Amino acid sequence: GAAPPAEPAPRAAALPYQDASLPVADRVGDLLSRMTLDDKLGQMTQIEKDSLVPRSDLATHRIGSVLSGGDSTVSPNNAQTWADTYDSLQRTALDTPLGIPVIYGIDAVHGHNAVRGATIFPHNIGLGATRDPALVQRIGRAVAEEMAGTGIDWDFAPCLCVARDDRWGRTYESFGEKPELPTSMATFVTGLQGPTLGADPASVLATAKHYIGDGGTTGGVDQGNTQLTEAELRALHLPPFQEAVRRGVGSVMLSYSSWNGVRSHAHRYLVTDVLKGELGFTGFVVSDWAAVDQLDGQSGFTGAEITTAVNAGVDMVMVPYDYKKFLTLLRGEVSAGRISQARVDDANRRILTRKFQLGLFERPLTDRSSTSGVGSAAHRAIAREAVRESQVLLKNDGGILPLAKGAKLFVAGKSADDIGNQSGGWTVGWQGRSGPVTEGTTILQGIRAAVTDPARITHDRYGNGIDGSYTAAVAVVGETPYAEGRGDRPNGMGLDQEDLSTLARLKASGVPVVVVLVSGRPLDIAAQLPDWKALLAAWLPGTEGNGVSDVLFGDHAPTGKLPMTWMRSASQQPINDGDGKNPLFPYGHGLTYGATPDSDPEPTPSACTAQFRTIASWAGGYQAEVTVKNTGTGPLTGWNVAWDLGGSTVSSLWNGSLTVSAGRATVRNTAHNGALSPGATTAFGFTANGPTGTPATQCAGS
Ligand code: BGC
Repeated sequence: GAAPPAEPAPRAAALPYQDASLPVADRVGDLLSRMTLDDKLGQMTQIEKDSLVPRSDLATHRIGSVLSGGDSTVSPNNAQTWADTYDSLQRTALDTPLGIPVIYGIDAVHGHNAVRGATIFPHNIGLGATRDPALVQRIGRAVAEEMAGTGIDWDFAPCLCVARDDRWGRTYESFGEKPELPTSMATFVTGLQGPTLGADPASVLATAKHYIGDGGTTGGVDQGNTQLTEAELRALHLPPFQEAVRRGVGSVMLSYSSWNGVRSHAHRYLVTDVLKGELGFTGFVVSDWAAVDQLDGQSGFTGAEITTAVNAGVDMVMVPYDYKKFLTLLRGEVSAGRISQARVDDANRRILTRKFQLGLFERPLTDRSSTSGVGSAAHRAIAREAVRESQVLLKNDGGILPLAKGAKLFVAGKSADDIGNQSGGWTVGWQGRSGPVTEGTTILQGIRAAVTDPARITHDRYGNGIDGSYTAAVAVVGETPYAEGRGDRPNGMGLDQEDLSTLARLKASGVPVVVVLVSGRPLDIAAQLPDWKALLAAWLPGTEGNGVSDVLFGDHAPTGKLPMTWMRSASQQPINDGDGKNPLFPYGHGLTYGATPDSDPEPTPSACTAQFRTIASWAGGYQAEVTVKNTGTGPLTGWNVAWDLGGSTVSSLWNGSLTVSAGRATVRNTAHNGALSPGATTAFGFTANGPTGTPATQCAGS
């Protein structure tokens, strides 16, 4: 017969740092006691994956962290290859005497954007317009789930910059010009990390960046100087970081910029005293890309620069290339006593604590079961919802929007059918690029999918061939992709020549023009605005262009509010809420359907929004809830909400009374809750028999 199964070999007694049942602090203490100085200096070193020659250098130099910068990629660029790359680097790191795993960081700033096919969410400026921190937290979670499928542990996001000058090329990375918005959107941290770091497999480390004052530089110059009193700096730029720390953010990245002439990377008071001391930040501080070797104004490391940065409070240096020179100099500074052993141990304790919490010692390799999360339908649905909510309706003369789904439309503009333009910078490449850079739905495709007869949609990028027979022309114009300083616009912020020519062709036809602006910031458009019937700020919506068409056709009434004051002319920059300049549209402005047009851009007493939510669905029916909110300044009385039933019939309704005509159901407030005061909400729900989907909701009030 068969031999009895062999007894399992007794498990080698784990060293204390390998024992997951011990408290993290004990594991860190035990590991530190076993590390050589070289092990410790390696933990403070972060390198670009493509700089490793030969790959075994990762183990030889005990490198603690790897990153992929904006242009770093794998071939073929898919989740599988990213995961393979990650695992092979990780295996190299584990094959060392102590087997300390690397932590791998990436800029997943609007989705897992280095990976082709990932869901691309609106850039932060659009998320700021949603005023919806809970949605932003769900986006953070979706990004973490897509990252988990590629093994990558650490996201250099969110950018909590407060962009004070729209000439800055990183304006779109900001949730808004006032600290309140970036502070409220620090929910992104909780989305990425989960409530407790490492408590679930999708948890990734978040980074609050760039500390501090990156968005406050004079002239909006990237990496420039922020000239403010300490009270001003604290009031404008500190609150988002305070909130991120309160939410347990695991890392903070410093800003290239200076405060009153001193670089953040050299600022011991701001980094060690304020961030780590006063705010109680217990995570680790990472430098920005090559920021330490630029401290003396020249590229190439010196020992003095390294000492300045590490003693200011930098725990990990994003080298990212010349790691041999960096490590030699760092070792020299420690040996000479200019950097203390205590400082090295403190940096290591901070870094290792997060590695243990993330579960890297227990689960160092990619969880392959989750690679399917990249670009999943569930994530794209969240992105589409975010696109809808981020649209800001700035002008709607005569109520030309929403467009009828049966209308004869002419679609034009360089960004009407361009997934790259609508995604912006940091999309499969640092700068992003025009064209089919990744997979998704262009705005034109969204329009064609929304209408009753796609044959009634004509598209020409330049507006050639338009005649007077169209109901409306939709022009999708604005900015082409850029990132960081390459997007600085010190010399004018108007539309480019192509856009102006396209718009002129449309205007000459006499057809009413609806402009959808795809841009990373407000643009200088006051001179063209009178020619347009409607203006919708779409920001940089990402891959789900159907979220824009949802708003154009009224499947979702616009709810977005400006996160930035909109200049009347570029000469007003910087222009911010409360500074007494005369903007074209104020901070917080945003129209909806059914409200009074924008002759007075202040919120009107009758403004309201309606939000539709599916509670449950089954074959042949669904249950839904609609929440009505008074977004105006006075009581809302005669409101009603209508939705298209899309072929279904309503079988029950709660909290309201209903009329149905021509496939459209209407609920009126007179039947139940009476008047709503400003800011108040009310909800009603219904059960429908028939096809599921998201019916159109529209709110009108008086
Ligand atoms: C940017 C950071 C980014 C880093 C790594 C730098 O150029 O300023 O925001 O995290 O590159 O890609």
